[in-house]
Amino acid sequence: MKLSNFYLFTSKENPSDAHIESHKLMIRAGMIRQASAGIYNWLPFGLLALKKIENIIRKSHYENNINELLMPTIQSADIWKKSGRYEDYGQEMLKFLDRNNSELLYGPTNEEQITDIILKDFKSYKNFPKILYHFQWKFRDELRPRFGVMRGREFLMKDAYSFDVNYENAYLSYAKMFVLYMNIFKSLGLKVLPFNAETGPIGGTLSHEFVVESKTGESEIFFDKRAYDIIYETELSDEKKLKAILENYGNFYCCTLEKHKKEKFEKLVEKKHQIKTRGIEVGHIFYFGTKYSEKLNAKFLDKKGNTKLIHSGSYGIGVSRLVGAIIEANHDSKGIKWPKEVAPYQVLLINVNVNNRISTEFCENFYYKNNKFINILYDDKDDRIGHKLYNADLIGIPIQVIVGERNLLNDNIEIKVRDTNKTYLINKGQLNSFIKEFYEF
Ligand code: ATP
Ligand code: MG
Repeated sequence: MKLSNFYLFTSKENPSDAHIESHKLMIRAGMIRQASAGIYNWLPFGLLALKKIENIIRKSHYENNINELLMPTIQSADIWKKSGRYEDYGQEMLKFLDRNNSELLYGPTNEEQITDIILKDFKSYKNFPKILYHFQWKFRDELRPRFGVMRGREFLMKDAYSFDVNYENAYLSYAKMFVLYMNIFKSLGLKVLPFNAETGPIGGTLSHEFVVESKTGESEIFFDKRAYDIIYETELSDEKKLKAILENYGNFYCCTLEKHKKEKFEKLVEKKHQIKTRGIEVGHIFYFGTKYSEKLNAKFLDKKGNTKLIHSGSYGIGVSRLVGAIIEANHDSKGIKWPKEVAPYQVLLINVNVNNRISTEFCENFYYKNNKFINILYDDKDDRIGHKLYNADLIGIPIQVIVGERNLLNDNIEIKVRDTNKTYLINKGQLNSFIKEFYEF
């Protein structure tokens, strides 16, 4: 993309209503603009980041034979009345009538909708296990929408639902999603820890929250820092290993405020390993057993021909919140530092002076030759170099290639790696291999 074609409007001003860095930076870097309280326009640069994250998540599911579908944003009140949540969900649910006075709602989550789908298809134990997911916008009329996309009223969630014939199998599906999610966060370049979570009225022990450490996060967290050393990678078909991981993870103390016990923490964890801080919840998974299948009558026939209730779990990732969380974890005073895994562009090619024949020739040549293989944003605008470099740091593309006549006359170009803010003067012939090495192509 040439910057002259890109719909990118950056700003130097810090928005007065933004209190955390990711919110300020997303607005200043022209990624989002508020439409109304807790509801955002995703401008092209913001949408690129959102889609990049969505696609990384999608790819991991595809590779593990997990089915994508798409459920609507608007749901009928009927299924929510059956589950009992039409009243229970409270004021966060947005309810309205259509022209025939049918009661509708803007989905805050999809347990009822998905159960209503599968109950028409699952007949026999032979149909199981299955996992389905979608990416869809949710609406929750949050009491205090804040921190930009972190706590919006409209937000993008990736929600998955598992279906099994009994607890043992459902436990395996849960372990599979637990490991899959840890791997997804890793491939997004994020350091995430799983925390035991409250299951609320559902009961049982199976619920985890996935949290990124951040001073500005809404959750208080207490953990043994060695929990970061656990390795979650395994083939998702290896049942034994999956179970072992879920059990092993409990070896280190990891609690959010709700589950935290001060005495236990101090007794079990040596002082030097204790971490007390805050974090951002980027995912939350539950096993809820037969809660919805009972209410919505979702059954199957087992081997002996007996009618049984389906066992389910749900698994949410806050996709739009992740954009904020990633920036919160990767920025400095000048702007965003995209981790290479999720960067909306891989290379920012900066023509120091577009009126100079030598730098322009090099840039055009490099851009047209490589644009198909490397994701390049080409700053071809007739702006002062100071302004270009200021913007480059603000928008945070991992590699800045700075092309000016003075260096080119010695066959050199300057490169800045945004993560470390280190600059390198390299021979122009080495540019491609520098990029390849950086991204491990
Ligand atoms: P929270 O505890 O932050 O209110 P939740 O437990 O209500 O979230 P879930 O229903 O578990 O949320 O939703 C799954 C994920 O969706 C959460 O882990 C979070 O990342 C994201 N999410 C939830 N509410 C919002 C929101 N208002 N804005 C942005 N993302 C959200
Ligand atoms: Mg939660």
